[in-house]
Amino acid sequence: MFSKILIANRGEIAVRIIKTARRMGIRTALVHSDADTGSLAYEMADETIHIGPAPAAQSYLIQDRIVDAVRRSGAEAVHPGFGFLSENPVFARRLEAEGITFIGPNPHAIEAMGDKITSKKFAAEAGVSTVPGHMGLIESNAHAIQIANEIGYPVMIKASAGGGGKGIRVAHSDADMAEGFDAVKAEALTAFGDDRVFLEKFIIDPRHIEIQVLGDKHGNIVSLFDRECSIQRRNQKVIEEAPSPLLDDVTRKAMSDQAIALARAVNYDSAGTVEFVAGQDRSFFFLEMNTRLQVEHPVTELITGVDLVEQMIRSAAGESLPFTQDQLAINGWAIESRIYAEDPYRGFLPSIGRLVRYDQPEEGQQDGYVVRNDSGVREGDEISMFYDPMIAKLNTWAPTRIAAIDGMKRALEDTHLQGVGHNVPFLAAVMDQDRFRSGHLSTSYIKDEFPDGFQGAEPNRRQLDILIATAAAMNEILTEQSGDPSDRTDWIVLVDRQAHGVSLGYDDDEALTLDLAGEDRALRLSEIDWRPGLAQFRGMLDDSPFTAEVARIADGFAIRTGAAKARVRVLTPRMAELFARLPEKAAADTSKLIQSPMPGLVVSIAVEVGQEVKAGETVAVIEAMKMQNILRADRDGVVKTVGAKAGDPVAADDVLVEFA
Ligand code: ADP
Ligand code: ADP
Ligand code: MG
Repeated sequence: MFSKILIANRGEIAVRIIKTARRMGIRTALVHSDADTGSLAYEMADETIHIGPAPAAQSYLIQDRIVDAVRRSGAEAVHPGFGFLSENPVFARRLEAEGITFIGPNPHAIEAMGDKITSKKFAAEAGVSTVPGHMGLIESNAHAIQIANEIGYPVMIKASAGGGGKGIRVAHSDADMAEGFDAVKAEALTAFGDDRVFLEKFIIDPRHIEIQVLGDKHGNIVSLFDRECSIQRRNQKVIEEAPSPLLDDVTRKAMSDQAIALARAVNYDSAGTVEFVAGQDRSFFFLEMNTRLQVEHPVTELITGVDLVEQMIRSAAGESLPFTQDQLAINGWAIESRIYAEDPYRGFLPSIGRLVRYDQPEEGQQDGYVVRNDSGVREGDEISMFYDPMIAKLNTWAPTRIAAIDGMKRALEDTHLQGVGHNVPFLAAVMDQDRFRSGHLSTSYIKDEFPDGFQGAEPNRRQLDILIATAAAMNEILTEQSGDPSDRTDWIVLVDRQAHGVSLGYDDDEALTLDLAGEDRALRLSEIDWRPGLAQFRGMLDDSPFTAEVARIADGFAIRTGAAKARVRVLTPRMAELFARLPEKAAADTSKLIQSPMPGLVVSIAVEVGQEVKAGETVAVIEAMKMQNILRADRDGVVKTVGAKAGDPVAADDVLVEFA
């Protein structure tokens, strides 16, 4: 076994690898850029080696620097994590030539599966079902249209070198094709330096299901079963689970057999993933093989009990797999939520800045579920624009799917982030949806369920009860602390502008009781854990635990529970009467505005008055904290006014562009 390995990555995955290496008694050396000095992974590694400035092209992607760092540290092997150099056969060969072990598959397998066109050919030869389409290269726009008509619309245009959801478009007509073909070619050239493009049939209402395989250098290959990753935004995974709710045992076995056949065809060793797109009828077709550790590998670890990083290290060191297929089984269900620094209320605009607060859910066995939080940052850390905007991968496990989802709801409640926009309320909304809970998934799920984007969710009955009870309890605690306790028991709780009359009392166990007059409901709030200044309120409402995010605002409280947030006021009946007579202040409509998400300097404005802009196009670039932040249109529109120019300083929420 190795005595020291080098980690050629950063963030969450570097932390993940260090944890396993430590447990195995292997020392770790970590490379880092300027931006990652002092990061969590940096603190955890036994040794750190600086390799350059923040942009990955000047640090994490420079092979010479990585090889040099291996030499300096005396490490015997390199774990590349995912992204960066993880699927680069040139890098894997280079290490081999230098006598350094690559903790991943052999370079031949990486190369064979490295581009989508070649890998589809290998797959077809290995008897794997592939998406009907054109396997060859397409030279011209006219040729593309001709092939698309042979395949039949809708057709997917894909960059052969694509990855991470980039370089993919759907065409429904010749016109789409004419435009899309050139667009994908151009995007592929910029993003991957390779403009080869191919076409395949677009599978309608598809699901993304993948098989985790694991091999060694002695010809043994097993399947660690399936994961479903259908909850995606712009072809990027957001929520994953294992196993897939779609598969029955027969389909699972057929998919596993095909994945193993493909892996065998390229002498696969190490961990890898064979991705399929599946129809609702359980038909399935090969998409691509990722020859690396996958972002969502924790859900597989949770249902199989196998540590994939450990197995990658052992396989790289030449050990045989310690188990056979017969010894592997699926136990329970696991869900993963990718917590991203992006603002769901603003069209999922990437958000950067300092994580001024970060309370994480407790890991390990909880009441009925298990929590695992793979995080690469701590409170006080900076989320920078240079890398992936992922803050953490929150996983839960339970014996059943519904229990794992309910565990995820609780774990999301226990995740408190401040300082950057984040998608926790959005993830919570999905966990509450009947469609998600029933397992009727599709890669169009987010588009179907949130056609107008995300504005939070209406509180359901329990969430409404939490809003009312939390506000009433906070009001009691604050009045008591003010030293002027009132004996009043009758209050009106306004949730936004909806009035609920409550009568407060305490029962023998000192729990707060709330009688909701006229609503034929009584609530009981016990085990209250909150004091002024805390941003989280914990308690048991009618004997089930909850955590709400709370803040005091001018005339009440802003409270969020799951995806439901409201302004809640606790008023005397007299005050409530007066309040009801106040005209409602209409909230400013900001949907047509692009506002600066932070104080900074305008680097450039990319649009002019009268210009037509499509959703996703760059509107402006703002520099803040020495970093550039690209602001994109979250909908199609025509520019009505432009409020700033290059060089202008701007405050948070300053209007940069207004659409008509
Ligand atoms: P997974 O397929 O493991 O779920 P993603 O597709 O989200 O993961 O990609 C994993 C990581 O690798 C992300 O950080 C993504 O940005 C990066 N990535 C994937 N493919 C490429 C590529 N071809 N070029 C650059 N980065 C990539
Ligand atoms: P990447 O390398 O970016 O991960 P993939 O080929 O894995 O690219 O495709 C990414 C996603 O796009 C898939 O998860 C799936 O949702 C969708 N997709 C890809 N190919 C098809 C297809 N032929 N039909 C329908 N959806 C597809
Ligand atoms: Mg993929």
